[in-house]
Amino acid sequence: MKIMNDIYGIHHVTAIASDPQRTVDFYTSVLGLRLVKLTVNFDDPTTYHLYFGDELGRPGTILTFFPWSEAPKGHRGTGQVITTSFLISEKSIDFWQTRLKKNQVTFNGPFKRFDEQVLSLYDPDGLEIELVSHSSAQDRGVNVWNGAGIPSEHAVRGFYSVAISEEGFERTASILTQELGFTYVGQEKSRFRYKIQDSEAGASIVDVLCLPYTPLGYIGVGSVHHVAFRTTTDDNQKSLRANIIKAGLNATPIIDRMYFHSVYFREPGGVLFEIATDPPGFTVDQKSSELGARLMLPKWLEPERKNLEKILPRLRLSNTRKGSEFEK
Ligand code: ZN
Repeated sequence: MKIMNDIYGIHHVTAIASDPQRTVDFYTSVLGLRLVKLTVNFDDPTTYHLYFGDELGRPGTILTFFPWSEAPKGHRGTGQVITTSFLISEKSIDFWQTRLKKNQVTFNGPFKRFDEQVLSLYDPDGLEIELVSHSSAQDRGVNVWNGAGIPSEHAVRGFYSVAISEEGFERTASILTQELGFTYVGQEKSRFRYKIQDSEAGASIVDVLCLPYTPLGYIGVGSVHHVAFRTTTDDNQKSLRANIIKAGLNATPIIDRMYFHSVYFREPGGVLFEIATDPPGFTVDQKSSELGARLMLPKWLEPERKNLEKILPRLRLSNTRKGSEFEK
């Protein structure tokens, strides 16, 4: 068993939205992701926690949202994940330009960066999303969710990368390379790229943008709350946590998030990182065919279901491959 390199890339990205319905509509009907879990924020059960991903919400494909209608708008700046990039096939750039235009989503690009083509867009709350076409999409086409009538060959293949904005990059780089197993692979302008080299799973890139004259970001609606990196077992998670503490950072205890186990720590540049286990995954409380179809609660909140369903806004879900609709 490997000891040093127990991170296999990005597990999930969690962002803040304002309106849950608008978020569901954009990510399922425009980007064609699957709503794999409709649950509540375990730390604030009167608000939703929405999880989008591939057909099973596999690690490396999961974008999650806290819809907080009262939260102030975020500001882009340093100490944040500023871009979340999804992978698409090299043959899909035209398809996505047409699709985005048809859905009245403005975008920039395509432009070239390293060996990839990039389309850049914002979700309805101003969260920056990229669709990156790259040859590695060939290896990640098996388990796509061809939602919203998008042909499988053009469907989103999970994450490609995240970009974090930093005042400097050395201390962040040191955590990425020394503690999390990333390798420096190249630079383009102020973008320094780090990658999990032996990850067959993809979703293995973190770009560190060194932006020293940019003000500190403010996390709010339309910004990323944290990025989680994946590890395969609880034991690996424990040893990664121990190493992070040894490196002088604070880390939370291991927290049971029902669908994975989590440890959070702030990297030296201020971005909230999480280490999340692959197991047990989203089928722990629902059959794969029923993922996302109804509100799921952890056992300790089940007695509150009636009250919570009264408080939580009702959602229209369009979550099947054929696009048929059902309500929770
Ligand atoms: Zn998380």
